Amino acid sequence: DSNEILNRFNFEINKHNLNKEVKTVQTGCFGLCEAGPIVIVYPEGAFYSKIKVDDVERITEEHLLKGRIVKDLLYVESDQKDIITSIDEVGFYKKQMRVALRNCGVINPEVIDEYIAFDGYQALAKVLTEMNPEEVVDVVKQSGLRGRGGGGFSTGQKWEFTAKAEGEEKYVVCNADEGDPGAFMDRSVLEGDPHAIIEAMAIAAYAIGASKGYVYIRAEYPIAVKRLEIAINQAKEYGLLGEGIFGTEFNFDMEIRLGAGAFVCGEETALMNSIEGKRGMPRPRPPFPAIKGLWSKPTLLNNVETYANIPQIFVKGPEWFASIGTEKSKGTKVFALGGKINNTGLLEIPMGTTLREVIYEVGGGIPNGKAFKAVQTGGPSGGCIPKEYIDTPIDYDNLIELGSMMGSGGMIVMDEDNCMVDIARFFLDFTVDESCGKCIPCREGTKRMLELLDKITEGKGTLEDIDKLESLAKTIKSASLCGLGQTAPNPVLSTLKYFRNEYEEHVKEKR
Ligand code: SF4
Repeated sequence: DSNEILNRFNFEINKHNLNKEVKTVQTGCFGLCEAGPIVIVYPEGAFYSKIKVDDVERITEEHLLKGRIVKDLLYVESDQKDIITSIDEVGFYKKQMRVALRNCGVINPEVIDEYIAFDGYQALAKVLTEMNPEEVVDVVKQSGLRGRGGGGFSTGQKWEFTAKAEGEEKYVVCNADEGDPGAFMDRSVLEGDPHAIIEAMAIAAYAIGASKGYVYIRAEYPIAVKRLEIAINQAKEYGLLGEGIFGTEFNFDMEIRLGAGAFVCGEETALMNSIEGKRGMPRPRPPFPAIKGLWSKPTLLNNVETYANIPQIFVKGPEWFASIGTEKSKGTKVFALGGKINNTGLLEIPMGTTLREVIYEVGGGIPNGKAFKAVQTGGPSGGCIPKEYIDTPIDYDNLIELGSMMGSGGMIVMDEDNCMVDIARFFLDFTVDESCGKCIPCREGTKRMLELLDKITEGKGTLEDIDKLESLAKTIKSASLCGLGQTAPNPVLSTLKYFRNEYEEHVKEKR
């Protein structure tokens, strides 16, 4: 649809000889999926939503030719009270702060000059010409950035371990194998701002002493792959990849490797096996990738969102970044908001924003006047947080304390009609399918858990089955080899913790 709309705008602009006055820019995602396809007309910032090809003629004739905003095509907030005439007034964006997504929906990702015009490659120039590798690592440490892929490990420390690891040859890797159901954070960054990832990986390579990088990306993301390929080629043409970057002795090149859709390949050691051409199965850790990674060489792995923060940390300074967020979780976090919520979409908020602010202000509340019941964060590795904790500030530690986790950023809202046992079953079904089968607790244990859950949801379970489910979940959590199995029981454990009564309602006998 968006392509057709763009083509029609170009046609109308030509037809009316507006080429000198009006320029169309195709951008990445604006985040507010619920309102798409979106057209914003500047300088007014008029925010047209749910546009169809047939609307283009009216926007051209009214707005572009006569300067009159087409009110009935403007975005309307979910409460239907106000007419929004500018993107600045849209509630969805008011609480947001865009660092990782700063260029998404702003620049044309296929034009390197647009990225450069928005401070692009400034950070790399500064790093290569003014700083030594130790200073680069120090800046990342000072920023307090933690890995956005799920674990929340200190990015600066990870860089430091890899920088200090012995080895002539080292690698940097970007994990773009986003696999959580409903999550599309990494995809949006790569589709909307691919140069930010290239720039960040080059900075990381300089910091750890690598000259080769790989982006491991799902083959199911064809637009992201295409835009990344274009961006890599443009960076090479501009001398920003290759030999002697910015006239220094630093060389760096990168390649794309496509994943075939196995969820487990998002686990860093399985991902490295896959890049090496082996079956994507996790390896035992230690040794950690920082010591023995790709082809047994020291390797730095970060996910897309982590890298997307790096250039701004160098442009604006680590103190700026560390001033955003909470004491132990600095900066912002991107979430894919879905489920029973008015504003489904992609958002970026400062760490420490409460769940209530996300659900009611950014998300626009629950549709049809229903009551909020719970929110699931962290995808298949996360858990459900009930309404009692709606005022919890979102950060890594608070979510873990509540039995969930940040994960890569999936956030699914549930209302009073949702059955929490069904939600837990949905995620467990996903992990049973995606278990690679290497270790018994995960391969067999998750299947047995699913059998018990099926029995319970079909009304054939007993109270003893609920206890068995819980005990099995705890065993799998502690005995599985990799993160997939260690976190697979989380949706069951957290719903058992907060909604045990719903499990008990499914079984006939009562305590
Ligand atoms: Fe494979 Fe699951 Fe074991 Fe991980 S925990 S190695 S996904 S079987």
